[in-house]
Amino acid sequence: MSDSQSSTTTFDPETPNTGDDFDPVDVFEDSADFDLRPGADSCYKCSTCDTNCPVAEVDDDFPGPKFQGPEQWRLKRRDDDHAVDDSVMDCSNCMRCDNACPSGVPLSQMHNTARGEYVSEEMSKLSVEYVRNRLLANYRTSAWLASKVPRLANAAMNFGPARWLIEKTMGVTSEREFPAFARETFREWWASEGGAAASRERARAHRERRCDPLDADKKVAYFHGCYANYNTPQVGKAMVRVFEHFGYEVVVPEQGCSGTPMFANGMLDDARRDADVNVSSFADLVDEGYDAIASCTSCSMALRQEYPELFDIDGIDAVAEHTFESIEYLRIHEDLSGALDDVEVGGDLAAEFAYHAPCHARNQGLDRQAVELFRDVDGVGVEDVGDSCSGISGTYGWKAEKYETSMQIGAEMFDHMADVDGETGMTECPTCAMQMEHGTGYDVRHPLELLEAALVD
Ligand code: SF4
Ligand code: SF4
Repeated sequence: MSDSQSSTTTFDPETPNTGDDFDPVDVFEDSADFDLRPGADSCYKCSTCDTNCPVAEVDDDFPGPKFQGPEQWRLKRRDDDHAVDDSVMDCSNCMRCDNACPSGVPLSQMHNTARGEYVSEEMSKLSVEYVRNRLLANYRTSAWLASKVPRLANAAMNFGPARWLIEKTMGVTSEREFPAFARETFREWWASEGGAAASRERARAHRERRCDPLDADKKVAYFHGCYANYNTPQVGKAMVRVFEHFGYEVVVPEQGCSGTPMFANGMLDDARRDADVNVSSFADLVDEGYDAIASCTSCSMALRQEYPELFDIDGIDAVAEHTFESIEYLRIHEDLSGALDDVEVGGDLAAEFAYHAPCHARNQGLDRQAVELFRDVDGVGVEDVGDSCSGISGTYGWKAEKYETSMQIGAEMFDHMADVDGETGMTECPTCAMQMEHGTGYDVRHPLELLEAALVD
């Protein structure tokens, strides 16, 4: 018998324990919550996270990531009834504090957990804020509906009186234009192109052209997310064409939202529902040798970091380990720079780009990749507009009460964009793109579109 067993077994002199009926005692009770104490205890209060928080920089009332994470966590450890402070809803979930902390404190994991608890325990489910946040967080549902009647939806959503009414009743800002819904979704286009079987044939033809082995093990499963499906299918098409150009077979499995807007709004049950779908779809493909590729850096962030931090689902670690952002993946496996030697970009993508690295790209170490990749390509110029946050952070900047904060955060990026020659922006994140367009009026493109223009005939 081990020391731990002997110390937790009650001795009863009437019924001596023979060892046959030993009933182990749970030292740590079963809990759905993840134990983050080692992380909280790693905080040595240097405040680096606070000085890197874009919300704290413009909003003096926001207590900052150190309070939202380790300090609230300690208060909770002392008193389980301690209510999560409502300021956790003012965090935009940009995750810059994660990147800034020199001590590896899992700040965003703590914020997501605290926000989930705040929404489930403290927020009235009948409040306008809850209903509005739930609608914004479940963008995929409204986008699906709108995609059935895209022309009508586009006209109705940007009709002035309707926007005014939506702001007054729901608290969704009327300052921004709703993004247009595509007349044909990415998935509709994908089906019309013949789906996975046709992709296999096209990939083989490209392998032949490239003199690659025809049976090369090059296959990827595309996580397009909501925005590339319903709003910018051109990004999804560029992803497919570029990967096939390099000889990859593409499959587009069943999928839900990545959960990014749900984490940011504390809707962890909704996020878990979609994570179940996504992990189950992609885990089977990972088992078959596919890697998961996302064209949105917040989607890749969710699958590779937030899922394993927040959920315990069969196959989640394998999916996280095999998830990549699209250009990151090509840079690892292909000679992308070599492929871009001697090409010249023409058409509307022959431009000077003001490139903004999304905060979630920064967290994955991807903030320089577009600049490094395109800086020597003939016909284009790419200038990094610095490391400031765009300020929109998904649904955050759509909330009427957060709009001004969002624009104050974005002001540095707008100024730097204005300093760049040309009037075209570039970023991997669809909501950063919205903010860039909104703040400057520039057209904004995805690096995959430029890669497609440079490489695909
Ligand atoms: S996630 Fe962003 S907004 Fe939230 S506390 Fe961290 S740095 Fe601040
Ligand atoms: S940066 Fe890390 S160690 Fe420093 S105060 Fe923030 S959480 Fe604590």
